[in-house]
Amino acid sequence: MRDLYVDYDGVIVNTIKAITEMYDDEFRDHPNYREVNWSEVESWEFNELKCADAAHIDAYFCEPKFFEIVEFMPWADYILGLLKEYYNITIVSMGHTENLKLKEEWCKFNIPYARFCGVNFDNHVNKSKIDMRYGVFIDDVTENLNTSNAIKRICFGDKYAWNQDWEGVRCANWFDVWKAIGKPEWKEQQNKKKLKPGCLDI
Ligand SMILES: [Mg+2]
Repeated sequence: MRDLYVDYDGVIVNTIKAITEMYDDEFRDHPNYREVNWSEVESWEFNELKCADAAHIDAYFCEPKFFEIVEFMPWADYILGLLKEYYNITIVSMGHTENLKLKEEWCKFNIPYARFCGVNFDNHVNKSKIDMRYGVFIDDVTENLNTSNAIKRICFGDKYAWNQDWEGVRCANWFDVWKAIGKPEWKEQQNKKKLKPGCLDI
């Protein structure tokens, strides 16, 4: 079995959608409120949500409600369920203490076959402390990908300011992930068949 390390926010779940819904619920009657579709949010700090400052949005990440309403990215749970046959899956996610506690509970309930590895914002600015050698790493932040020692690194999802400079492999959705890394043993067999007679299989 190989190792697969997967980010949580923006990769396994649609974090932007959940945060936008929490904002809608709280500020709908505010005089400066304007309805914003989650797909219009393109800033890391949620600047598009005008009635709430960064600290207010940050607090949403530590509320149980976030974990009650957050949804899987399309087909994430299905494809992860397939990948678990080929990989030891670890969810590697950054957050503050309360966020990580609730996130771990969510993962244990919804993705019980995966390990959870939290990286606290209080002590770390990226995920480089996690040894991912020989593994595959999927994340949506260039900084995390660039500082990882994973053998294969994949940037997931739409292009945003926090990943637009990534020049490596991209997967727009979970079907692309399956195409890129699904059934690794089968792929190795296929590659062996392509070798010309006499070639060393190294
Ligand atoms: Mg993320």
